[in-house]
Amino acid sequence: MTERIYDRDSHQKTFQAAVLRCEAVGEGWRVALDRTCFFPEGGGQFGDRGTLTPAGGAPIPVTDTQEEGDLVWHNVTAPIPAGTEVTGELDWALRFARMQCHSGEHIVSGLFHARDGVDNVGFHLGDEEVILDLSGPVSWEEVQEVERLANEAVSMDLPVSCEYPPEEELKTLTYRSKLDLTEHVRIVTIPGYDVCACCAPHVNRTGEIGLIHFLSSQNWKGGVRLRMLCGSRAVADVMAKQNSVAAISARLSAHQSQVAQAVERQSGELEAVKQENARLGKLAAQALAETLPAGEEALCFAELPTPALRALVNAAVEKGVPLCAAFAPEGERFAYILGAGEGLDLRPLVKEMNAALSGRGGGSAAMVQGSVAASRQDIEAWWAARKTVNKS
Ligand SMILES: [Zn+2]
Repeated sequence: MTERIYDRDSHQKTFQAAVLRCEAVGEGWRVALDRTCFFPEGGGQFGDRGTLTPAGGAPIPVTDTQEEGDLVWHNVTAPIPAGTEVTGELDWALRFARMQCHSGEHIVSGLFHARDGVDNVGFHLGDEEVILDLSGPVSWEEVQEVERLANEAVSMDLPVSCEYPPEEELKTLTYRSKLDLTEHVRIVTIPGYDVCACCAPHVNRTGEIGLIHFLSSQNWKGGVRLRMLCGSRAVADVMAKQNSVAAISARLSAHQSQVAQAVERQSGELEAVKQENARLGKLAAQALAETLPAGEEALCFAELPTPALRALVNAAVEKGVPLCAAFAPEGERFAYILGAGEGLDLRPLVKEMNAALSGRGGGSAAMVQGSVAASRQDIEAWWAARKTVNKS
């Protein structure tokens, strides 16, 4: 079996061990050691990474750690024969960041349990952020109040204990647990905040967590899904967002605490500009339609957005143009809208045009819309030479 050093000392980063077994697995290998600091994936936390260095050899990366029965298996990129003495070293920055997140999660889950009567029913400690699913609805205001209280627990620098209480004591103990275990239960206690059954390594004191920071809350299966960050990850996030807010603030000439209102104001202005733009486009379309002689087919090219192009075609058909084809440049292509008066079916025509001018699009007998990959000259040449529109 593997002695689990991380179980009693979560801060030991290096260790000496002997290889018990070595097996090929997938595209690499896995080795079981007689003792290890590497925490195997469990309880929502990923397996540790780091290196194993055989005596006199080069470090071999450990890409993952998994548990199987009483053995801890280290996934490695090269085989290490049984009996080899190795020095193991954790990717400590990664492990410590995960411990900060995990211990932070215990504090907030304890607070939600005590204050709101909701439980942590799903916990995922990814490499980016912590995802926490709560069993019942909680308002964002309450989430932020829990954030404030959790950070108070951090600043109190409380001791975090991980112990295996005797069975008798366990019976009298009230603790959060996802499993119905009765023996060999590891209890993680943060005094005044949380008592929880958990197998993972934790920080020694709450001060090590540094910062607990919620990112978002969304409705999730009758409860809420929270995203949060702790420790160095939370600090990095706050710094990145500070840069973002500072840039928006400078751009909008708004105080940093007022950027949301400034963006709101600008969105309103943008909407008004869009509406004005649409109104002007329609006016231009109507003016252009007025220049078209009634009773004659029309081919127009206009730098107009699609709604205005449609207005042009509608206005033309309304004033008695039997068939109006309007084209507008759109990158390398031309967008088109074709409209026809009663008695015409545009669909055979548009099919013929798409085939000849590498186009796509379609519509009804009276109006079709699409685009062609052709030059203005090509369009004009095809239009002049095309077959007559079929009568419907
Ligand atoms: Zn836990």
